[in-house]
Amino acid sequence: MGIRTPEEYKESLRDGRRVYIRGEKVEDITKHPILGITCDTIAGGYELTASEKPEIRDLFVAPHPETGEPINRLFVTPHTTEDLKNRTKMIQTSIKLIGSLPFGKDIGTDCLNAAFVVAGQMGKKEYQENARNFLEHLRKNDLHTCGAVTCVKGDRSKEPAQQKHPDYYLHVVDKNRDGIVVKGAKIHITSAPAANEIIVVPTRQMRENEADYALSFAIPANTEGVTFICRGGRGAWSDHEFHADRPVRELTEAMIVFDNVFVPWERVFMCGEWQFSMLLAYTFATFHRFTAISYKVPAVEVMAGCGVAMAKFNGLDKVGHIRDKLADIAAYVETLRALTNAAAQDPVMYGDIAVPNPLIANMAKLHFASKYHAFIELIQDISGGIVATSPDKKDWENPDIHDYLEHYLGGSAKYSTLDRLKMIHETMRHICSHESAFHEVTTVHAEGSMAAQKMMVLAESPLKQYEEMAMIAAGITPMKS
Ligand SMILES: Cc1cc2nc3c(=O)[nH]c(=O)nc-3n(C[C@H](O)[C@H](O)[C@H](O)COP(=O)(O)OP(=O)(O)OC[C@H]3O[C@@H](n4cnc5c(N)ncnc54)[C@H](O)[C@@H]3O)c2cc1C
Repeated sequence: MGIRTPEEYKESLRDGRRVYIRGEKVEDITKHPILGITCDTIAGGYELTASEKPEIRDLFVAPHPETGEPINRLFVTPHTTEDLKNRTKMIQTSIKLIGSLPFGKDIGTDCLNAAFVVAGQMGKKEYQENARNFLEHLRKNDLHTCGAVTCVKGDRSKEPAQQKHPDYYLHVVDKNRDGIVVKGAKIHITSAPAANEIIVVPTRQMRENEADYALSFAIPANTEGVTFICRGGRGAWSDHEFHADRPVRELTEAMIVFDNVFVPWERVFMCGEWQFSMLLAYTFATFHRFTAISYKVPAVEVMAGCGVAMAKFNGLDKVGHIRDKLADIAAYVETLRALTNAAAQDPVMYGDIAVPNPLIANMAKLHFASKYHAFIELIQDISGGIVATSPDKKDWENPDIHDYLEHYLGGSAKYSTLDRLKMIHETMRHICSHESAFHEVTTVHAEGSMAAQKMMVLAESPLKQYEEMAMIAAGITPMKS
């Protein structure tokens, strides 16, 4: 098959999977008012690979490295800087073309690429072969994946083995000749209800007495014992919103419950090798933070654009303190872009696999997350209180009050009141809405908390080298000849 159509992808989701949202079981997620949006958003990715335009198709479709058959380029294991840059380009181009990232194949391959690296380090041929066969399965059937890493974790101060019950972290409860049985739950998993395959990676380092928790595998979404419990989403545009003539794009997160789920051995990439759980979690995080920073760039570009536009609509774009804020906005975005490019430019090689530079990828994610709220504050400041209190589209359309809005809500005479209102509403979505609050939390937590990034920055930075230089500068140790 190699490349599926959007319709083939949607059809594949009607497979008996167990999905709940807002307390109700959903029989066909493609037709659900919230989950259908997730399916459409992901289907957008299949529109790109099926595109007739060569410049789009050539970016999103690559020849299979051995057979030359067309496959989704995200299924190309990165061996070079060029391969990593192509991942960034695909992510950023899909956001521009379909209005969102069809998130899933990226995180899924972040998990699988990490599993390849770690299987190589373990020297376990069977895991390497399992990962290779699974990748071929994804390539051949053009499957959508999700990456299930975050366990529910219970009491955060306690390790998996010390928790009040053993299921706060996903673990093995039984093994036999054919496979393993697993129990536990993964949480916040983006696009999970609309994935074909779930790829599991350990959420953290495991110790010797936690070998049952050192676990990585892949299973189809309709496997018996798997249940998805989804967050409620925003749904379609409401009549009250000014919006562009394009569909809402959204990806639903879910908690995935694994209730004594059987996993055949040929789908297992780690089972019990606790010494390598840290390397797997760490390598996944590096790949995935690189994915994250790639898709954050276009997200913050649009938000920065709202700041620039609101300054103009309000007639303030030449004012000193506003220009100062625009400089800070631009510096935030461009630092993120520069770090994203640098992480691809300077990869670390594990055998023939190119891993994005771990220090730079983590610095980039930390930069994005730690300064995001200040970035939003700048846009809020420039925009004025109207982004909190604006009348809506229904008011604009009501002839009783329309003329008041037209008369009083204009800004700079260069722009119409309607355009100002449209920009206010776009800005509102990014900085003063339920959606923007969701993104503020997502910024802090998704792809790991800031403490996790700082841990990796400390582990990867040449602290010893800094110290040696200071010791020489202070005359405590002699200068090296
Ligand atoms: C919108 C969204 C999408 C996501 N998508 C995915 C996905 O697709 N796949 C996936 O696997 N995950 C996903 N995540 C999960 C994300 O990686 C986690 O939210 C993140 O790792 C933090 O974990 P947590 O939410 O359990 O918070 P917690 O771990 O509870 O963290 C809360 C705070 O406690 C601190 N903390 C936690 N444990 C300790 C400890 N032992 N010692 C000291 N401090 C501690 C943290 O640093 C943080 O400051 C997503 C999250 C969001 C919000």
